[in-house]
Amino acid sequence: MTELTRRTVLAGAGAAAAATAFTPFATSTARAAAPSAGAQAPGFYRYTVGSYECTSINDGARSFPLPDTFVTNVPKAEALAAAQAAYMPNGMVTVPFNPQLINTGSKLVLIDSGNGIATFGPSKGAVGRTLQNLAAAGVDAKSIDIVLISHLHPDHTNGIRAADRSMAFPNAEIMVPAKDWEFWMSEENAAKAQSNEMMKNYFANVKNIYTGIESNVTRYDWGKEVAPGITSVAAPGHTPGHTAFVIASGSSSILIQSDVTNIPEFFLRNPDWHVAYDLDPEQAQATRHKFYDMASAEKALVVGFHFTFPSMGHVEKDGTKYRLVPIAWNPVI
Ligand SMILES: [Zn+2]
Repeated sequence: MTELTRRTVLAGAGAAAAATAFTPFATSTARAAAPSAGAQAPGFYRYTVGSYECTSINDGARSFPLPDTFVTNVPKAEALAAAQAAYMPNGMVTVPFNPQLINTGSKLVLIDSGNGIATFGPSKGAVGRTLQNLAAAGVDAKSIDIVLISHLHPDHTNGIRAADRSMAFPNAEIMVPAKDWEFWMSEENAAKAQSNEMMKNYFANVKNIYTGIESNVTRYDWGKEVAPGITSVAAPGHTPGHTAFVIASGSSSILIQSDVTNIPEFFLRNPDWHVAYDLDPEQAQATRHKFYDMASAEKALVVGFHFTFPSMGHVEKDGTKYRLVPIAWNPVI
């Protein structure tokens, strides 16, 4: 009898082959080999908020060697240990990207647009999958009424342009936080950022994406109903205008956190860790605590752009830290 020990599990493939060899008539009953699919299935997931039908759209995920200063205020070894504890590829960090499509009944709203493919290149198909996953979900990009951007970082905003630089959502109104627009479009701020490689690239990217369409961009403020049932919530720190959203319909509501944290395995678990991309790390940390204290007290469903697909769960307070309890896949809506 085969015992389930560490040795037999790790030797699984060999053990299976050996077992086959001892099975009489194994070869005579063999079926034709099935071809490998060689590609991932489409990434979209439906859920409802009151009468609104929502769809989490996966733009992909990127794994890259953990940069020395990915977490700026703890030693790299500690950050690596967190990546390892989350079973990320060895020495790497994996960051997923998930825009949300909200069908309010009167408007089709896409919250954030993903990485796009114009500025990053195809990246082996790992990111920039929003358009193809929208199509897989049966949604025509031309039918989207509003693209609501949480902040002007490339992974959230570059998807407004298709590979040929045309508008990916040609009939949509593009809405951006007024405070982010003011910050990133300022020539003075851009000039000040030239000595910082990351910031320099961010400024250049905003220019690259938005030049020529400035007059078609609507700036929104915080605390406003920016689309039916969708309210903008101040969540500054990550960027000056970084915005979360409440989606409310009937007696139901959810929180779209945008980038209150980057990946939860690091920054929701350790809310006092600072990700390299937070422009004002102290303010981002304060926003994080405020947001998750509220979410955990209200037992609210939280959608995170950088949570693992389908990118939603509940947040529990765990001493001075937090824990994300991801939702289970719901086969019906
Ligand atoms: Zn982001």
